[in-house]
Amino acid sequence: MIEPASKQAIERAAALLRRGEVVAFPTETVYGLGADALNPRAAARIFAIKERPHFDPLIVHIGAAEQLAEVAADIPRAARELAAAHWPGPLTLVLAKRDIVPDIVSAGLPTVAVRVPAHPVALDLIAATGRPIAAPSANPFGYVSPTRAAHVAAQLGDRVPLILDGGPCRVGIESTIVSFAADSPTLLRHGVITQEAIEAQIGPVRVAAAGDAIAAPGQLPRHYSPATSLTLIDSPHELTPDLRSGAALLACAPVDDSAGFAAVRILSPTGDLEEAAAALFAAVRDIDELRPTHIYAVRIAPHGIGRAIMDRLRRAAAGRESGIESRES
Ligand code: AMP
Ligand code: MG
Repeated sequence: MIEPASKQAIERAAALLRRGEVVAFPTETVYGLGADALNPRAAARIFAIKERPHFDPLIVHIGAAEQLAEVAADIPRAARELAAAHWPGPLTLVLAKRDIVPDIVSAGLPTVAVRVPAHPVALDLIAATGRPIAAPSANPFGYVSPTRAAHVAAQLGDRVPLILDGGPCRVGIESTIVSFAADSPTLLRHGVITQEAIEAQIGPVRVAAAGDAIAAPGQLPRHYSPATSLTLIDSPHELTPDLRSGAALLACAPVDDSAGFAAVRILSPTGDLEEAAAALFAAVRDIDELRPTHIYAVRIAPHGIGRAIMDRLRRAAAGRESGIESRES
């Protein structure tokens, strides 16, 4: 059931979490499906509800950087600096875990992914629960992440006792993930806190390749996938009237040629990439519901936030003809 995130609703959600139930709640990135991060049975429910494979670890949400040492050990200075600069915010740090974090949360890895979300409802919920909250995106595994309470209700409504509605997510794509599991920091997932910003702060980082072992499922070649096939294009000029007919066009900025498509979604009228990222997943869902024959998405330059957007689009486009599809959704 969707409920506006009033103080009373947050209290009720906290009581559910303390009892080992799950609840969906807003963060600034996407809606999360939360459970008590220190309760393995509660965390197991997340995997069951999402039909998420157990090799895919969860992000642990804490209320403040001061709580980091409760779940993580050996915190390098660069990680502390990133936390100080970006928390609360859309940055997740992967660090050596403490024993208190159950193996199911970390998928058996010796590390834990942690962040402080920049959303008043999420922070109030963590405080009211008095525990860290493990939460992946509140969608069935492999599908586009939800950025509205209604998105959660549409896909998981019958499996989640309470969905706190905090309005649309401001950031709209998942957090940037930086891992300190190896000797040198590794960027596991691009987000609106850009590689450039991170490198300016802590020096060069390695960028994980798609094939790297588990690292982050955000890295699996196919993820964030709509039901409709999606193809990346450089410009609509590539497409004949035949291909346009019945198809949808998705672009971050206005295009000069959008005639003949069944639907056109421009994510930002001014080409602002933050605005485009915030609108991306809702637009993909809207288009998907129209059941076009195909989605054509216009590529953007992979710099800054453009990298994060291109990363999501590439994964939405990938893997349909290969064996990846069956492995993943
Ligand atoms: P989701 O919120 O559904 O995007 O899932 C959380 C993301 O964080 C996944 O892509 C996880 O792989 C990643 N993650 C969580 N814990 C770890 C970890 N210990 N090491 C690497 N990545 C992690
Ligand atoms: Mg997800």
